[in-house]
Amino acid sequence: DQPRPVIQPQPGIMEIALYQAGAATLSGRSDVLKLSSNENPFGASDKTREAVARAAHSMHRYPPTDHLRLRTAIAEAHGLDPDRIICGVGSDEIIHFLCQAYAGPGTEVLFTEHGFLMYRISALAAGATPIAAPERERTTDIDALIAAATDKTRLIFVANPNNPTGTMVTEDELARLAHAVPQALLVIDGAYAEYVSPDFDGGAGLVERLPNVVMTRTFSKIYGLGGLRVGWAYAAREIIDVLNRIRGPFNLSSLALEGAEAAVRDHAHLDHSRSENARLRDWLAAALAERGVPSDPSFANFILARFEDAATAAACDAMLRGEGIIVRLVGGYGLPDCLRITIGDEASCRRVAHVIGQFMAGRA
Ligand code: PMP
Repeated sequence: DQPRPVIQPQPGIMEIALYQAGAATLSGRSDVLKLSSNENPFGASDKTREAVARAAHSMHRYPPTDHLRLRTAIAEAHGLDPDRIICGVGSDEIIHFLCQAYAGPGTEVLFTEHGFLMYRISALAAGATPIAAPERERTTDIDALIAAATDKTRLIFVANPNNPTGTMVTEDELARLAHAVPQALLVIDGAYAEYVSPDFDGGAGLVERLPNVVMTRTFSKIYGLGGLRVGWAYAAREIIDVLNRIRGPFNLSSLALEGAEAAVRDHAHLDHSRSENARLRDWLAAALAERGVPSDPSFANFILARFEDAATAAACDAMLRGEGIIVRLVGGYGLPDCLRITIGDEASCRRVAHVIGQFMAGRA
């Protein structure tokens, strides 16, 4: 038999750089402080843990396919229509569904220069061309997005607040973008929306007003359920119908469904997580600024600490690791002179500020 060549994938697939998740451990250390993946330092709520433990009793059964109970709970919590919600395996899966359904060869998917890495990956996986528009001072630039749009643009992803910059644009600016590019769906990624303020709607109001706007949300951040993998989207009925056609019937496990439902009903855990995050985010930003490390005002559960140059950021990262602290180098996001630091609990914030203070003192 002649050796056969390995079958090649579709165009675009080999352009995808493998996603590098934040490290979880450092070899030889048991006291690692992980501040690299924007996880909730308080974990999941007790009610959520109990619900997941109860669900484990029936894990030999397939889960429901319609997610009706979870969608109803989300709808009640946010004042939305449950029939216009779809749930996915993290909002990552929803981003994937959107690209599969609305992008493809010959189309373009637009996002911002320092946007979330999955937009590019999902666009390439769908055979579409990813286009990154420049930002202004690490903030989404609506004019730059409008200028970068073409008649091939099918999707525009804007995270608000954005990861990894933590900055935001107003609802009016997003509406202006949606009006200026009517040939595309505008996806407002609200992964960090709950951290902004108790009454911030994450873009739901725009979805109500404009048929070409989609909002995505996640249980991975403020609800402390990154490991359970649950995200959701709110959109026009027609869009939800499209996405449901490509969704696997059992995409969410029964544990994930029960855990997320308990989480969205637990307002006390949400409020505590939000207020502690705001308090400690202000504290950490001020503590780092005092030590000569500025950051932009952040609306999320992390801050983007800016150093003199990429070498200094890398040296600070190395020192933090030496002290058992993992933060995120964001060179992959085009910000090699920055470190993204998740807001931990009070002791964690003090520990990271102390080490960065030592690093900066050593350079003076
Ligand atoms: N969007 C943004 C802006 C994010 O930062 C993340 C998580 N890093 C996600 C979406 C995806 O989160 P998940 O798939 O866990 O819902």
